[in-house]
Amino acid sequence: MVGGGSAVNGGHAVVLGGSLAGMCAAAALARHVGRVSLVERDALPEGPHWRRGVPQSRHTHNILRGGQNALEELFPGLRARLLDAGMAEVRWPDEVRLLLPTGWLCAYPSDYTIVCGTRPLLDWLLQCRVRELSRVRVLERTTVLGLTGDAAAVRGVRAQTRDASGVAGEPFTLDADFVVDATGRTSRTPSWLAGLGLPAPAETVVNAGTAYATALFKRPAEPTAPWKSLIVQATPQAPHSAILHPVEDDRWVVSVAAMGGERPPTDHAGFLEFTRNLRTPLLYETIRDAPLVGEIHGSGRTENRRRRYERLSRWPDRFLVLGDAAGCLNPSYGQGVSVAALCALDLARAVEAAARGGADPLTGIASGLRRRVARRIDAAWTVSANTDLVYPWTEGEPDLAARLGGAYVNRLLRTATTSPAVAQAMTRVSQLDTPAGVLFSPRVLLGALTGR
Ligand SMILES: Cc1cc2nc3c(=O)[nH]c(=O)nc-3n(C[C@H](O)[C@H](O)[C@H](O)COP(=O)(O)OP(=O)(O)OC[C@H]3O[C@@H](n4cnc5c(N)ncnc54)[C@H](O)[C@@H]3O)c2cc1C
Repeated sequence: MVGGGSAVNGGHAVVLGGSLAGMCAAAALARHVGRVSLVERDALPEGPHWRRGVPQSRHTHNILRGGQNALEELFPGLRARLLDAGMAEVRWPDEVRLLLPTGWLCAYPSDYTIVCGTRPLLDWLLQCRVRELSRVRVLERTTVLGLTGDAAAVRGVRAQTRDASGVAGEPFTLDADFVVDATGRTSRTPSWLAGLGLPAPAETVVNAGTAYATALFKRPAEPTAPWKSLIVQATPQAPHSAILHPVEDDRWVVSVAAMGGERPPTDHAGFLEFTRNLRTPLLYETIRDAPLVGEIHGSGRTENRRRRYERLSRWPDRFLVLGDAAGCLNPSYGQGVSVAALCALDLARAVEAAARGGADPLTGIASGLRRRVARRIDAAWTVSANTDLVYPWTEGEPDLAARLGGAYVNRLLRTATTSPAVAQAMTRVSQLDTPAGVLFSPRVLLGALTGR
């Protein structure tokens, strides 16, 4: 648990990007830093509404258990607030039907629950919490143009504000003792580093050519099935997947995905037909008579892409990149939000540890933190990118973990359909709640050896 914190210096931290990673980073820093400025290009909505800077918020946002725990530490009491706002609680695995590539995940005893709701509602509730933090001020309609400082340390940012009619003001400089880039997958840090005289990071891309379509449906107020959530994973022979979760206002959010460049339909009839041809008819049977709410939206921004900042031999102090800006992951595995929240928690802990030791909490922590961010991405990458590499059409090179682990993971996937011990271990790793090492514990190894 990170401490409540008090301002130990008059420092000023600037967080770039006011979406999920930015809000988590602002909350993390506000515990020990005198002032935090959160700089966001968009005007933030007054309520749980879609906005341009987060186009993916129309799609299912499955928040893994590891991410839910991290969010709760950063924003104590958040879970209760999400449920009060109408989000749904789902017991895992009893209330989930998960069709793995190898068959249905078997049942096992568990006290896991996950909270399901729409992304705009999550963002809105986080925004309300951030605005309650007296040390945080939010600068909306402000675009970050670059960093100031030099190769040794970042000293601030250059930014430009637009008024409500879109007219740009004069660019200005915001001095800072620490800067966090949380501007998402379009982050310009590689060129900003070049401006400080530093090399660009290498990039690793694994692209399964996944495309999404997402629809909301009205669900009956009384449940019609013993399960609440349904997940259908793809196989190389049947490369269509789907996910259904209950969300606020008695609705289901349903996302379907195709791979290898195919795009799922965004008209109602085509969407239903797509679900009818999945590996199980369960989703089609559930939604075929349910009223569609609003339009169906598509998205193709799904490749796994990471920037290897941890490999650069020189890194400016007082600067950190996190969230999608550091690494984005195929959303089919639902990890992006959780990785961002876990990295922000690492930031909170590093600042807290430095403050406890009596040091300036913002100096000297950046380089270690960039490695910790990389390790968080590694854990998620092992699940998402390495699974995508199973498909023959995926672009990208398998790394060592993928080469060594592929056959074993396949074996575990088979066993998870019959062995509760293996099913539980695999779930905890894919929920980013436990390090992957648990898959090599004696209990799981034995399960894999003796299981189906
Ligand atoms: C189709 C789809 C479905 C997804 N489903 C899931 C899921 O089920 N579960 C999950 O965990 N994750 C999911 N994700 C991933 C998730 O959306 C991201 O990981 C998460 O939003 C990362 O947040 P972020 O704050 O790093 O970036 P973003 O949410 O992209 O936000 C970046 C912010 O920075 C702002 N910005 C950008 N440039 C500037 C600038 N120059 N100056 C100022 N502000 C700037 C933008 O306006 C925006 O507010 C999905 C993604 C996609 C595409």
